[in-house]
Amino acid sequence: MQNFSYHAPATLGEACALMAEAPDRSRFLAGGSDLHLALEHHAGPVDTVIDLKRIAGLEGIEETPGGGWRIGALTRMAALERHQGLRAALPALCAAAAVVGGPPIRNRATLGGNLCNASPAADTATPLLAFGAQVEVSGGGVPGSNASRTLALEALWAGPRSTTLRPEEVLTAVVIPPPPTGGGANESTANESTAHGNAFARLTRSAMDIALVNAAASLTLDGSGRLASLTVALGAVGATVLSVPGTDALLGRPVDEALLEDIGKMAETAAQPITDVRASAEYRREMAGVMAMRAVGWAAAPAKGDTP
Ligand SMILES: Cc1cc2nc3c(=O)[nH]c(=O)nc-3n(C[C@H](O)[C@H](O)[C@H](O)COP(=O)(O)OP(=O)(O)OC[C@H]3O[C@@H](n4cnc5c(N)ncnc54)[C@H](O)[C@@H]3O)c2cc1C
Repeated sequence: MQNFSYHAPATLGEACALMAEAPDRSRFLAGGSDLHLALEHHAGPVDTVIDLKRIAGLEGIEETPGGGWRIGALTRMAALERHQGLRAALPALCAAAAVVGGPPIRNRATLGGNLCNASPAADTATPLLAFGAQVEVSGGGVPGSNASRTLALEALWAGPRSTTLRPEEVLTAVVIPPPPTGGGANESTANESTAHGNAFARLTRSAMDIALVNAAASLTLDGSGRLASLTVALGAVGATVLSVPGTDALLGRPVDEALLEDIGKMAETAAQPITDVRASAEYRREMAGVMAMRAVGWAAAPAKGDTP
């Protein structure tokens, strides 16, 4: 581990100003579960670490009007995994948070860190992409920086381990819009004739390993059980987490075996995997199809009134 000076500022402005002094040799610290490895292996020379954890207002989970959610960037995986409201409305996100490492990692690892580390296998990124999430970022008032801005999640990533953030920008929150029907997971109140569901599926070599492939689906069924909306995202099969294009062509169909076969083929086509130590590109492509089928089937089950 390299030697570095450690700062724990109390405000976003101080944190961003510190970063702006020497952006090439400084890093923000959240839970540190990725950063400590980066400092040992591939971060390059770093002499300043700026801890974000003392800054008020960066942690917490709140429901927004209409059934959306706002989650602070410093919110830990353990908090996501256990939050009762999120478990009911966004089980895909809770399931993804629940498989990030083991309990000690989940007690430190943050949602913002998972997204800013920009791994294509980041588990929480996949459901958030399926939900159409946005991220809020702030330059902390540093001269020449954006005060604050909101961007689509997919616009956060430039490639593996690379984001589009300016060095002094901090990701402050993740904003998840209400589902298309405006209701919750087992919707009965907001709109009597539609139901929303979402699910996460993941394949790994062992429980503590990162995903070989993961997939998330978010869908709405109309009163006759036909698809009214469908988004599917895939992780670990491209340079970034990616969306499966063309799912609108499936709207109006029931979620049956034929539809799952079609979504599997679409996911295989969308996947752009590489071969690495964990799996071959061919295996990953085939499994992208299987994981997408599982995620869509599981997402539809509660919406149809079945047990997933
Ligand atoms: C043993 C082990 C197992 C793991 N298993 C998994 C797994 O199964 N699935 C998975 O997805 N991940 C896994 N990870 C990776 C890691 O735990 C997650 O990516 C974690 O969510 C990162 O969050 P953090 O708070 O620890 O980030 P940090 O390590 O503190 O930061 C990560 C990067 O993001 C930057 N950063 C952090 N927060 C912000 C912010 N708010 N604004 C701007 N930049 C920021 C940091 O500067 C750094 O470059 C594992 C890690 C370990 C060590």
